[in-house]
Amino acid sequence: DRAGRRPLVAGNWKMNGLKADGLALTDAVLAGVRGGAWRCELLVCPPATLLSLVGDRLKGSPVRLGAQDCHHKPSGAHTGDLAAPMLADIGCRFVIVGHSERRADHGETDAEVKAKAEAAMAATLIPIVCVGETLAMRERGDALKVVAAQLAGSLPVGASADGLVVAYEPVWAIGTGRTPTTADIGAMHQALRAELKRHLGAESDRMRILYGGSVKSSNAAEILAIDGVDGALVGGASLKAEDFLTIARAC
Ligand code: PGA
Repeated sequence: DRAGRRPLVAGNWKMNGLKADGLALTDAVLAGVRGGAWRCELLVCPPATLLSLVGDRLKGSPVRLGAQDCHHKPSGAHTGDLAAPMLADIGCRFVIVGHSERRADHGETDAEVKAKAEAAMAATLIPIVCVGETLAMRERGDALKVVAAQLAGSLPVGASADGLVVAYEPVWAIGTGRTPTTADIGAMHQALRAELKRHLGAESDRMRILYGGSVKSSNAAEILAIDGVDGALVGGASLKAEDFLTIARAC
C-alpha cells in the first residue's frame, strides 16, 4: 500500500496540558489502542514538561513519543532550549521541526529548520519537517511554488526513507476549522513528492508526507483517502482521545 509507506497519525498537543490532563489523555488513548490492530503508526507529541511522564506510560504500547521542537546543537549554553540527544535519551523517536507557530513566534527560518532536522537525525530521531503557505500566498496563486521552495530550504542532508517525515500544514488551516479542497491537498502533496525526489532521489519514494490543519474526526476519512497523503498531523483534535483514535481508524 502507498509504495510501502505506513500511514502516520501524529498528535501535536502544543502548549496544552498540566500533568493530570496529559496523563488522563495518555491513558485514554492507550485504553482505546489496546487490542486493536492498527494500520497506521501512532504518535503523540506532548509539551516538554510531560515527555518523560507520558513516555513512561507509553512503554510497551504501539504509541510512539515525539517532541515539538529541538535545538540545532547537541548541547551548550542555550538557556531554555532542548537538544535532540536529550529527547532521544528520554524515549522520543520523533521531533516536529519548523512548525508554522515556531516559524512565526520564534522567527525560525528554513535554514534553521534544516539545521534542527539534521540535529534530530544525528541523535537518531525522525524529524517531522513542517511547511505550508499563508492565506495571502494561496490567494496570490503562489502556494505550490512557495511551499516547494520552503521544503527545499528546510530539507536535511542525508535523510533515509525511514528517517524523515514531511508535514504539509497550510498556515490558514491550522486551528481555524478551514481546510483546502481535496484537489488542492492532492496537488500540493504531488508537488512536495516531486521536490523530495529532486533532492533525495529514489530514497524519497518511501518517505511519508502528512497533511495537517483542522483534521478532525468528521473530515479525516476524506483527507486520508487523498492520493499522496500518508497520514495526519493533528492539533486540536488530538487533545480528545476519542477524536484522535477516530482519525487514526480512518487510515
Ligand atoms: P490543528 O493544528 O489540527 O489544531 O489545526 C494542526 C497543527 O498545527 O499541527
